[in-house]
Amino acid sequence: MKLGILSCSLKCYSTRRLREAAEQRGHKVKVLDTLKFAIDLEEGAPDLYFRRKQLTHYDAVLPRVGASITYFGTAVVRQFEQMDVFCANSSGGISNSRDKLRSLQILSRHHIGIPQTTFVRDKKDVLPAIERVGGAPVIIKLIEGTQGIGVLLAETVKSAEAIIELLQSQKQSVLIQKFVAESKGRDIRAFVVGDQVVGAMRRVAQGQEFRSNVHRGGITESVALDDRYCETAIRAAQIMGLRVAGVDMLEGKNGPQIMEVNSSPGLEGIERCTQLDIAGSIIDYIAAQVDFPEIDLRQRLTVSRGYGVTEIHIPEGSEFVGSSINDSGLRDRDLNALTLYRGTSVIPNPKSSRQLEAGDRLLCFGKLELMRDLIPAKTRRKRRPKVKDLPDLPVADEAHVDENEAPSEQVNTDTDDSSVDWTPSEED
Ligand code: ADP
Ligand code: MG
Repeated sequence: MKLGILSCSLKCYSTRRLREAAEQRGHKVKVLDTLKFAIDLEEGAPDLYFRRKQLTHYDAVLPRVGASITYFGTAVVRQFEQMDVFCANSSGGISNSRDKLRSLQILSRHHIGIPQTTFVRDKKDVLPAIERVGGAPVIIKLIEGTQGIGVLLAETVKSAEAIIELLQSQKQSVLIQKFVAESKGRDIRAFVVGDQVVGAMRRVAQGQEFRSNVHRGGITESVALDDRYCETAIRAAQIMGLRVAGVDMLEGKNGPQIMEVNSSPGLEGIERCTQLDIAGSIIDYIAAQVDFPEIDLRQRLTVSRGYGVTEIHIPEGSEFVGSSINDSGLRDRDLNALTLYRGTSVIPNPKSSRQLEAGDRLLCFGKLELMRDLIPAKTRRKRRPKVKDLPDLPVADEAHVDENEAPSEQVNTDTDDSSVDWTPSEED
């Protein structure tokens, strides 16, 4: 295959090793500086220029997009996706992984261990939020920090409040997270490639430090992960949309707790620690998958007018409980069941003979109009909302009231919060 490695650090250990591993296996490989691309958009013809020349054909690209160039880097990857080139990590996956809030939001709807976390804006919400995650000591995290730099441990509620107020006044968004004390300054880095953990290490913080990042002085040791840790790491990478990922987990008392999923995990630490050819596994994986470029399902499936993807819940007492997919009449409604979610298991392409159970969720593709009756009434919208005239709006009424707030709060203009009010304009 002809492989492009997207990287701005042409000489770093990871890039060197990946190129070397590809060459050893007889592939053609080029390291392409991500920042030297031009993205050309024209009707029906997404195109890429590299150093002012039209890019030649590549079978696959391996993005190694650094955190400082996420926006441009993911745009380049997205362009490769539009051109049907296999990308080892999707642009969406990379964007997800760069934002600690977004990644935890995505993970939290799945049955996967994460440290309890909250995100608040209003000063009045800070104290209850700290209490909800278990009180002090508590972790405070910048949403886009890396290498341990944006992670703090506040010993008392008072200091936590002060730190959060300071950071918010500096326009920084912060997460408040339960301190997983039992992990004792240690964490696990599992290196996931495809549906396998190809290497793992434990990082141990030194001295008084609670952060185990190698950049913070953490030392590494090789570790054999049990099935639960492997399974969690692989699922986390899959949920995030990443095929090559460094999954960081804390060893909580109830098992693995995902802290973050890195989309450009470094190779030096893990290869030196495990003495395994991780670069080789990545290249072998790409060579095996090169015929399956990432497809944005929604983008592709919803282009036919009136068709779409939706999830159908099968509640207790539903007429579908006990009947097979075949007998359920879904096919007669021009509906295809793509995946069945049952508890914590995911059954792709469920057989037509499979019996439906109460609590099942079916991801279906079909004609939206015919699916409407299968969606619970509370989420149902009017068929074709008519465009109406604007109602008379009160002039410059800024009292923004949440539906759950008590009436007495509705007139409170919260003047004490003006020091942390940095609401940006919502108009573009
Ligand atoms: P970064 O992206 O900067 O590496 P992480 O969220 O991975 O940020 O946190 C850095 C380190 O801090 C982790 O490797 C871990 O050792 C420690 N840490 C982070 N969150 C927690 C937590 N909730 N409880 C205990 N230790 C934590
Ligand atoms: Mg980390």
